[in-house]
Amino acid sequence: MPSRKDFTTGNKRGSSGKKNANCSFCGKSYREVGPLVEGPDDVYVCGECIELCQSILEQERRRRGESRKLFTKVPTPREIVDHLDKYVIGQSYTKSVLAVAVHNHYKRLMLAEDSDNDVEIEKSNIMMIGPTGCGKTLLARTLARFLQVPFAIGDATTLTEAGYVGEDVENLLLKLLHAADFDVDSAQRGILFIDEIDKIGKTSNNVSITRDVSGEGVQQALLKMLEGTTANVPPQGGRKHPEQQYIPIDTKNILFICGGTFVGLEDIVAKRKGHRMIGFGHDSSSEAAIRRQRDLMHDVCVDDVLEFGLIPELVGRLPVLTSLMRLDEEDLVRIMVEPKNSLVKQYQKFFEMEGAELEFTEDALREIARTAMDKDTGARGLRSVVEDSMFDILFELPDQEEGKKYVLTPEIVNGTTRMFPQDDSAAA
Ligand code: ADP
Repeated sequence: MPSRKDFTTGNKRGSSGKKNANCSFCGKSYREVGPLVEGPDDVYVCGECIELCQSILEQERRRRGESRKLFTKVPTPREIVDHLDKYVIGQSYTKSVLAVAVHNHYKRLMLAEDSDNDVEIEKSNIMMIGPTGCGKTLLARTLARFLQVPFAIGDATTLTEAGYVGEDVENLLLKLLHAADFDVDSAQRGILFIDEIDKIGKTSNNVSITRDVSGEGVQQALLKMLEGTTANVPPQGGRKHPEQQYIPIDTKNILFICGGTFVGLEDIVAKRKGHRMIGFGHDSSSEAAIRRQRDLMHDVCVDDVLEFGLIPELVGRLPVLTSLMRLDEEDLVRIMVEPKNSLVKQYQKFFEMEGAELEFTEDALREIARTAMDKDTGARGLRSVVEDSMFDILFELPDQEEGKKYVLTPEIVNGTTRMFPQDDSAAA
């Protein structure tokens, strides 16, 4: 085995006396690629080839090590829900549904690895229905982090049939491959969240001239991927990789979670149940409207989704159907306070870093929640409301005297007054 002293850099023209050494792997000269490492018997290697070798070895190491580790222990549904509870408020029904589906999915993978097994459990991709900003993406992301598998988010609206301007369905898999650092094995067990699945419905309300481009044809392309196929993923735009043309990815063991807001689905459920039609009027954020919407969403069934416009084959490949509830004022207040990385904790940390203290009054939190609800964007609107309320103080804080205490009140949130330091905390 060669020792370190057997290697020198080959561009010094000294050690070996060669003036024009070339890399023995790619054939490029040191003028093109910089310093070469020289081994015994006139063998040279350039930095680019070393990096490439390193990535190949790294991939191999991961394939043997970490990806195997994934199956040593599959968390129980209860453990999964406990973890989700730390980050996601409410949505307890969806949490349990997800936990069971994911647990079974990984159990199924374990079974597939067992060569003696002759019973194949079918996979159960998941469809999550719920208004914007209610936690669909957050749930999928939190889940993936807990399971330590690659996770990627794609958007069904960017997809078009091959040949049209837009993305091919395979590009969703490329995102997963990126998330897995081009470790194909690990990507093949990842979770892919496809958002806005409802927007490719063929009979959805806002039919546009481009609808047929991203309509049923895309659903057909998605079908194969959801079911399990070997897709050829073009690594263009990706990192340097030994496979130049495309990377074959088997989607059989990828868990697909599709999300959509399905605006108007309540009307379909209401009609089916013989209720009076309701729409998204100006009172849609009122308590009564939320309660009514929650009741209806709780009853969503496959027929409603079909009526909405998704083709039966697609719905059939997403056998786990779960609906998320619209968040009410109480939920929004909890979201600001309770999760591990809640908005309140983030802002308090920020003030602490500036040597100050920040307090949110209960009324201020409710005012923020109410303002965000008027925007009808769920919890998504919270940050911008808080940001608006504190813009002035965030600008001034770094120039202020340290050790002060600031209190956010409803008056500051609704803009009738500005935030000032509290005098009585000066000594703190
Ligand atoms: P969508 O349902 O549209 O996918 P997201 O999951 O992306 O919504 O939510 C947007 C943001 O709102 C999240 O990043 C998170 O901060 C917050 N959020 C939404 N729902 C919840 C929830 N149930 N619990 C905690 N935070 C939430």
